[in-house]
This record gives sequence, C-alpha cells and structure tokens, in this order.
Amino acid sequence: MKNSRPVNVRRPEVMGWVQTEVERYQSPLVDEIRRSGGVLEREGLCVRLASAFGFCDGVRRAIEIAYATCRMFPERRIWLIGEIIHNPEVNARLDALGLRHLPWSGESEEYGKLTPEDVVIIPAFGVPVHLRRLLEEKGVALVDSTCGNVMKVWQRVRNYAGRGITSIIHGKVRHEESMATASQSRGEDGKGRFLVIFSEEEARMVADYIEGKGERSAFLKHFAHCCSEGFDPDEHLKEIGMANQTTMLKSETTRIQNLLREAVVHRDGHDARFHVFDTICGATQDRQNALFELLQHPLDMMFIIGGYNSSNTTHLAQIAESRVPTFFVESAECLESRESVRCYVPALKQVVSRPLPDFPEPVWRVGITAGASCPANIIEQVIRRLAELRAASISH
Ligand code: SF4
Repeated sequence: MKNSRPVNVRRPEVMGWVQTEVERYQSPLVDEIRRSGGVLEREGLCVRLASAFGFCDGVRRAIEIAYATCRMFPERRIWLIGEIIHNPEVNARLDALGLRHLPWSGESEEYGKLTPEDVVIIPAFGVPVHLRRLLEEKGVALVDSTCGNVMKVWQRVRNYAGRGITSIIHGKVRHEESMATASQSRGEDGKGRFLVIFSEEEARMVADYIEGKGERSAFLKHFAHCCSEGFDPDEHLKEIGMANQTTMLKSETTRIQNLLREAVVHRDGHDARFHVFDTICGATQDRQNALFELLQHPLDMMFIIGGYNSSNTTHLAQIAESRVPTFFVESAECLESRESVRCYVPALKQVVSRPLPDFPEPVWRVGITAGASCPANIIEQVIRRLAELRAASISH
C-alpha cells in the first residue's frame, strides 16, 4: 500500500531564499570569461575554458530542491539517500544545514526508525524500486529530485521488460544511477532481466557468448554480481536492448553498441533482436564534445574539476589525459605548489601528487573544464590559484 506523500518544495515562498543560497555557487569571474569567448589572459597565463562545463540543469534542480526542503521543514528530520550529487563541497554545505543520510542498501537500522513525520529526499540519480517502496510504506514525506534524463532511461528499460527484451546497461554496477536503472529493468511484474557491463572488454565477452564462443560457467562467474537473479545467458541474450548510465563516455558506448549489434547479426543474420536507445544525457554529451573542441587548441595542461566519484567528470579526465598532461582536482586546495598538485588518476583509482609540467613557452596555456556536478565558484578558485602559482613562478 502506498502511504507516502510526494511533496513539491519548489514553491514561490521558499524559492527566493533558495536562489540567494545557491548564488554562492556562481562566479562573476567565470561569467566574465564566458562573455570573453572562454579565454582569460593574465601575465604569463592563458586560461581557456571549454564551451560547456559545470552544473547541468539536473544537478542545479536537485540542489535547489535540497535547499528548499530544508527551508520548508525546519522542524522536521530531513534525510537524504546517499549524496544529492557527487561533489564534496556542495554535500558538505547541505550537511551543515542539518541533512541526515540514509544508506543505499535499505537494510540499515535507520530505515526501520522512519516515521510519517520524516522527510526523505531522493537524489538526482533516483533510487532502486525496492527502496522507494519501503519509503512509501513508511509513509514519509517524499521529495523527489530524480533527474528527468534518468527517468527517460527507466522508461526505456521498463519498455524492454514489457516486451521480454533483456536490458544491457552500459554503466558502473555499483553506481547509484545504474542500480536504480537495473531495478527498473525488472518491469512491472519483476520478471524483467538485466546485465550491467562496464567496459569494451566485458562487451566482448557478451558478444562472444552471443556468437556461441563463450563458456557458460565462466560467463556466469564473471557477471555474478552484475545481472538479474537467475540470469541464463543461453536464454536471456536471445533478444537484447541497450541502455546506458547517462554519464558514460559517448565514444565507448557507441563502440559497445556496435560490438553487440554485430554479434546479434552474426548469430541471427539480421538485427531484429537488437534494440538500441542512446540514453547518454545531453549535458554529458555537450561537456564531452566541448572538451574535444578545447583539445584542438595548443595546451600545456588540462585541469578537470569535480568530485572523484563523479562518473561524468571521470570520463572527461580520461578523454583529456590521453592527449595532454591532465590534473583531475576536486578543489583549489589540491594545487599545493608548482611542484605538488594532488590529483585523481582514474586508471590507478587513487589520488597522487604530481608537479606541473615544464613550460617551454613563456605563457602557460591551460585548458579547464568541470563535471556536471561542479559549481562555478570552485572553478574560479582553481583559476585564481593557478594565477597565484604563475605569478610566483614569474617572480622567481
Ligand atoms: S548529468 Fe545528465 S542525467 Fe545527470 S543530473 Fe545532469 S542532466 Fe541529469
């Protein structure tokens, strides 16, 4: 039985206050650079910003919703499932307003203690179906900030489930959004199937199996934690439909789709039992395209700014690092000195300390972009810190 009360918190009486709060995430300097064609020139430093970067509409909306909820329910316990977005500064500020956190598992004690007096915010990635049902049964006030682009993916996989098609989800199996999408791919009756694949290597394993070259037990062992219960590759790969986590790397997703289509054609002689629907969101695509454009310019290094657990930001770093020395940083504090920049290396899955590269040119040519969950004020702080380091290096 559904007892929960969905609440609309974006009401005129609170949005004025919310706008003032979220202004802190803006940056006059970044706005000025945008107006000047994306270029900032200072003595010895030329900063070039990508044409699309930083906050997307879905993230902005989720943050506004979180602030509005705090304003609307000052006397109530307000819970957030996981993180509202993947940005440590934004999350820390919301925590300071008194937000409490519920884990993703739904099996923790906190869920048992929820009452109809509690308010629970669903983050931009959405939540798995079982968790939403649990909250509905508890009768809490539900504030839903799930992004519309994520919900479009859900529609698609539910549609696959209704037609007996197995969803192949290109994403990270432990990412909140992929977990939510996988749960949706079970469909209305809970009988839909899914398989989450992360890389081209895994796609190749699936393609081989479709073409009759795979070994069943090895396949099941490898994908044991990435598929629906009772997954049978001999049955459930007969008709497949592709979907993605919205923030994956576009070029990789396309290659994976082509690989699996070719496998189905190889087996069937046609692609009638292969379905595809590109669910990478426009904001992710725009930021990747803008980075490719930016990388056409001569650059000495790239700074990618955002949370280290942000999927779309990680993909920006992967694009950049194959072309130019790249520093994936969370904040200006990572730029400790010219000799030491703390940065995250996706391939190593760890934070390392690296010096800035040597500069053959008298002017440092620096490209900058930021993930969809990174506010402009952090971008400004990084630019100002770079200018400080450059001035120090000129005066030496
Ligand atoms: S990155 Fe895309 S899917 Fe994610 S919140 Fe932003 S617009 Fe929505």
